[in-house]
This record gives sequence, structure tokens and C-alpha cells, in this order.
Amino acid sequence: MPLEFHQFAYNDDNYGVLIHDPVSAETACVDVGDATALAKALDHTGWTLSQIWITHHHWDHTDGLDEAKETTGATVLGPVSQGKDIAGLDRHLADGDTFAFAGHKVQVLHTPGHTTDMINFYLPEAGVVFTGDTLFAMGCGRLFEGTPAMMWTSLQKLMALPEETVVYCAHEYTAANAAFAVTVDPGNAALEARAKGVAELRAAGKPTVPTRMGIELATNPFLRASSAGLRAHLGMTDATDAEVFTRLRALKDQA
Ligand code: ZN
Ligand code: FE
Repeated sequence: MPLEFHQFAYNDDNYGVLIHDPVSAETACVDVGDATALAKALDHTGWTLSQIWITHHHWDHTDGLDEAKETTGATVLGPVSQGKDIAGLDRHLADGDTFAFAGHKVQVLHTPGHTTDMINFYLPEAGVVFTGDTLFAMGCGRLFEGTPAMMWTSLQKLMALPEETVVYCAHEYTAANAAFAVTVDPGNAALEARAKGVAELRAAGKPTVPTRMGIELATNPFLRASSAGLRAHLGMTDATDAEVFTRLRALKDQA
């Protein structure tokens, strides 16, 4: 039986996700920024938490961890510290590590840039990846700790996943990301169509997450550093992909 997924909102724009295996009845959650929101989601689904997966040390992903661990007794997995420790981790994960969730393989991708400790969780059999604050729908995370080159390398790891991969990111930033994307990739018809779709979803109060890797490759400017049209628009025809990405990130920071 396939895994089931339940996404829930907390804070102004965060998403948490529950992952449930109906055979074993085990449940994992990705990040715990808000223990109350997590408890409500567990109550709503009737699922019992067994694992917590943490993407990075920022407060909006970890603030509810102590409380959630105490009330559920779940095992907590998170990144190897890069200087900012996350209290309460039972297991530290590095790039290439794998672990089992209810018999399903989970692969760990280290994707530094937003923070240096950032990890993402990829479930190859389900075809799902949790990208934290690395890859957003039509966007990518701000570079608080890493360099642009580091982030570009991280994004390339995600770009190598199959196009049909379902992408859960940790924030609903899509409308603002779309507004920026159309300014740097103006000839992109897929992007224009998606921006309209996103505006309709948000007007109806609906989430734009999850997305798919193929959709991101076609419309997310931060994954399109090699696009001839985007390069021409930026006047960077002869630059490297990493240089184009660096420029895009700087432009978004000023937007
Ligand atoms: Zn963050
Ligand atoms: Fe965040």
C-alpha cells in the first residue's frame, strides 16, 4: 500500500507534512516549528507519530521539537551540526545516508546554502522529496549561511531527481516567487501559465505546494541558469551557470 501524505499549515507561511504508512501504522513528520499545529494534524488524521525528520536548525522548523518529542516519544532524525546544534536529535544524518521509515528507504541529501546544516529527505519508491528551505515552488531559499556556489551545487542534486518527483517545500512563498520569476524569464509561456494558476489558487485560499520537479525545471528561474532566453534577458550569454544563478539570487534579494 502506498504511503499517505498530509500537509498542514502553521505560522504565517510554513508547511509541515505527515507521512503515514497504512500497513505498519507508523507516521513521520517533517520539521516541527509548532507542536500545537502538529498535535492538531495528528488528531485530525488519527495517526500516531513515530519519527520526526528535521531539515535545518531555524526556529520555524524546530521550535516545537521538545514538546512534540515529549508528548509522542518519536525518534528524532536531523542534520549533523555545522556549529548550530539542534537539541534533541537521536540520530545525526549526513549526505548519502539512508534510513528506513516503516520499511521504506529514505535517502538524505545535504543541500547547504540557506543554512550549512540543511538536509533534504528523498523517498525514491514513493517519488517524493522534502526540500525544506532549499527549493521552493518557483524559488529557492535565501543564503543566510552558504555561498551562491554552494546553493547552486545543492540545487543541482535536486535537479537530478526524476521529473515526476513530488516536491514538498516548507513555505508558501509561491505567489511572491512567481512575481519575481516573470521579471527575469519573460518569454517563458509555461511560467506565465503557472503564475496565473498560482494566483487563482491563492485567491481561493488553496496551497500551491506540493509541486513536481518537472514543473520546477520548466518554470523556476533558479533552476534555469542554463536557459538561453533567461541568459539573454540578463545579458549573461557567456557566463557559467553558477554565475547566472548568483545573479538571480542577488536580484531576488533586492526585489
Ligand atoms: Zn529556514
Ligand atoms: Fe523556514
